Amino acid sequence: MWHTSPMSELISRHQTGAPQNLEERFALRAAGMQPSEIRSLFAVASRPEIVSLAGGMPNLSALPMDMMASVVSDLILTNGAEALQYGSGQGHPLLREQICDVMALEGIRANPDDIIVTTGSQQALDLISRIFIDPGDVVLVEAPSYVGALGTFHQYEAQVVHVELDEQGLVPQALRDAIVGVRAAGKKIKFLYLIPNYQNPTGALLPADRRTEILEICREAGIFVVEDNPYGLLGFDRPSPNAMRAEDSENVIYLGTFSKTIAPGLRVGWALVPPSLKEKLVIASESSILCPSNFAQLTISRYLADQPWRDQIASFCDLYKVRRDAMLESLEEYFPASATWTKPGGGFYVWVNLPPEIDTKLMVPKAIVAKVAYVPGTAFYADGFGTWAMRLSFCHPTPERIRDGVKALGGVVKQEIARRSSAFEIKS
Ligand code: PMP
Repeated sequence: MWHTSPMSELISRHQTGAPQNLEERFALRAAGMQPSEIRSLFAVASRPEIVSLAGGMPNLSALPMDMMASVVSDLILTNGAEALQYGSGQGHPLLREQICDVMALEGIRANPDDIIVTTGSQQALDLISRIFIDPGDVVLVEAPSYVGALGTFHQYEAQVVHVELDEQGLVPQALRDAIVGVRAAGKKIKFLYLIPNYQNPTGALLPADRRTEILEICREAGIFVVEDNPYGLLGFDRPSPNAMRAEDSENVIYLGTFSKTIAPGLRVGWALVPPSLKEKLVIASESSILCPSNFAQLTISRYLADQPWRDQIASFCDLYKVRRDAMLESLEEYFPASATWTKPGGGFYVWVNLPPEIDTKLMVPKAIVAKVAYVPGTAFYADGFGTWAMRLSFCHPTPERIRDGVKALGGVVKQEIARRSSAFEIKS
């Protein structure tokens, strides 16, 4: 399960004199900067004839654009000089207060002073990695985990160790075992990164008792918990359990974002951190972006102040629930009996397991010919695992397109299984 950067060759070339080619002129850390599997897929998946079950793009059709236009125009007309100016490196004080109200929905009582506003939660992942990870340090993550976080950890040359996850999220005993194993190997664990609500990519929801147990394990072991929570307010049938941060303000670094509940184009997220970490994070953020966009922050701030944002989240949930149902029903109808999949109560994603002989990465071109796209399971592992799995997202296409896409994909999967078993019969 170890993941190391193949750097030694590059290091020795760096030490032997004048650079020869571009690769050698790059800093060593640039070797870890590789495009994600999702990026190359997106170009194809965005063609109009393809049903994309690949991306996790929020569905903005439920967001009233005339209302957003009036929020933005009102902001510029009444407070343009501030909105279009540089702002505080830590983030706008008013928005930080409002973020506390948003987090209160998940049981968090926070001080606005402990919040750092970021350019999406992706920037928060980068900042945390920057201040904690030295090359070779271990980061524990769920198996599978969010591709964007894996990419960031990889760039900072962490060793990513996956910890078992089942339908109910991270397995506490597996976490204990991983901590013992990593430490026995003489490695330093910097933090546990997890997504407790409607996890990306599996849709798993971590129950309250497991949250408590995982917090205890990490506290005892002296390991920070990075709780990434973009989907917590997108539960379709009932609210998700309280955030882990609600139970532990000393050892949890909480990441939030408005990308899934308002709009990702505004790029506003945040980190709520134990007070001892704040200064380092603000300095790290200032060195990369000076300050988060005042325009985007004040747009969100006005929206939260003047618009019925809780109702808007409820309409997003209604829209996603219909799409989740369309996906689960059509998987039932069109996928082979040998496939299994998760049944998420919220969020954007379903995780499908196929028979082990199927390689979903090799199957992508066939799916594209059948006009459907998905993300192969290996994208969500740091170590090449997950060849038999795929992530399907139900957030963006209409329910009809989801049915068409799942039907087409089911056909490809069945053909692949038949091809594999006839190849096996010929060989044996
Ligand atoms: N974490 C997870 C688990 C995500 O799914 C995403 C977006 N797909 C992000 C973080 C980043 O979101 P953003 O930068 O838009 O806030």
